[in-house]
Amino acid sequence: MNGKSHTILAAAASALALAIQDVDVIDEPLVFIPALTVGVLGGLFPDIDSANNSFRKSLRLSSSQTLRDLQNTPLTKPVTLFYNAGRFIIARILNLIDRYLPHRGPTHFGISAILVTWLVYWVCSAWGLHDAIWMTFGAGYLSHLIGDGVTIRGVRLLSPMYQPAIHLMPRRLRIRVGTQSESVMLALLVGIIFWFYLSYLGLVSFNL
Ligand SMILES: [Zn+2]
Repeated sequence: MNGKSHTILAAAASALALAIQDVDVIDEPLVFIPALTVGVLGGLFPDIDSANNSFRKSLRLSSSQTLRDLQNTPLTKPVTLFYNAGRFIIARILNLIDRYLPHRGPTHFGISAILVTWLVYWVCSAWGLHDAIWMTFGAGYLSHLIGDGVTIRGVRLLSPMYQPAIHLMPRRLRIRVGTQSESVMLALLVGIIFWFYLSYLGLVSFNL
């Protein structure tokens, strides 16, 4: 899926995780909004292995943007210059990830989702942050793997133990990224998440 679809899917998955945690935007906006943001970033993170990905763009760390900002910063603004130089160096380090990690490689393995989410959990525990933060990150990450798992190419979910790509849809229903079928599949997946939300509220039943 493309960055926009992953963003929508991750936001829906994060909203479900927040509902299960009983965190709502009215009562706890200072938990809800950061957690939703982290969830969307979790949903974009796996594509850090592709050039100019949405994860980097959303953090304003794309290669071209950091270079442009650095070139346009006047020498009379040393703090901005220092900040933009830092972003430029981070972007160059992230370029190494683009170069050495194949797209839909290790960042798309199920084991990576578990390990990176565990790392976020560890950071949340160490800093005393609300559990909703690491849970939305995990939900966003998982939503990304599901989103790529319904495409023609599939995703190597069980790698490195089992190398072949896993497909979450039968052959005829697999989508091609960037086509109208992607929008239809996105609507279906968001609908399923919404259905889970309604079941959680007890408004629909699993025993149809
Ligand atoms: Zn991906």
